[in-house]
Amino acid sequence: MKKELKNFIIKYSEKDLDYIDYIIDECEKRSDYILEFLGLEEVPYKIEIEIYPTLDEFLDYYVANSNYEKKEDVPTWLVGVCFGGRCIKTLCFEEYKKRHEYDDLDALPDLFLHEFTHAATRMASPEVYAKHKYPYWFLEGIATYLSGQYEHREEKRGKSFSFNVSLDDVIKRGSFYPAYYLFFKYVVETYGRDYIIRLLNDYDLIMSETPKLYEEVKEHYKVKSL
Ligand SMILES: [Zn+2]
Repeated sequence: MKKELKNFIIKYSEKDLDYIDYIIDECEKRSDYILEFLGLEEVPYKIEIEIYPTLDEFLDYYVANSNYEKKEDVPTWLVGVCFGGRCIKTLCFEEYKKRHEYDDLDALPDLFLHEFTHAATRMASPEVYAKHKYPYWFLEGIATYLSGQYEHREEKRGKSFSFNVSLDDVIKRGSFYPAYYLFFKYVVETYGRDYIIRLLNDYDLIMSETPKLYEEVKEHYKVKSL
C-alpha cells in the first residue's frame, strides 16, 4: 500500500492499518516545522518511507547497504535508517516494540521525523554534507531534538539523561544519543537557530567551535539538573 503526501511517499503493509492515519497526520504536521527550521520552503524531492512488516526484511536491507556482514551483528536497538538521504526504512510497530519495549505508538512518528530530519539536513546543505562527516552531537542531536523524540522520554522513564561523554565521543562515536540530544539542546537554546544554520553550512566553524561548546555543555549539565 502506498500514499503520497506533501513531503513524503509512504509505503506500508496491512500490519500498519490501525495506526497509519495517525502516523501520516503527525508526519505531515510536524515535518513542516523541521523544514522551516532548516530554512527550506519545500522539499526538492519527496522522501520515501517504507515500513517493513518483518524484522528479517529490515535487516536484509540494512546489511545490504551497510558495513555489517551478518544480520546478527546489527545492533538490537536499531529500528530505522536513512541511507543516502532519500529513503527511510523502518519497522512496523509490532516489530519496533520487540526492540523497544517501553515505547508507545507515539514513538513511531518521532522515529520517522528523526530520520526525516537527517534527510532534510542533507537537503539544506548538500555540498558540505557530501564532503564532510559532521560531528555526532550535531548529526544526531539535531535529529533527536527537532523530531521531539526525547522531549517526554525522561518523564516517561522516570530517570533523567546524564551528560557523561568525552569530546571524542561527541565528535566520532555513534551511540550516545541522549548525550547528543543534551548537547544540541543546550547549543540551540543558548545560541539560537541562526547559529545552528551557520554551523550547518560551515564545516571548519563547527569543528573549531565544538571543543569550546563541549566545555560549556559539560559545565551546564553539571550545575543544573534537567
Ligand atoms: Zn539518527
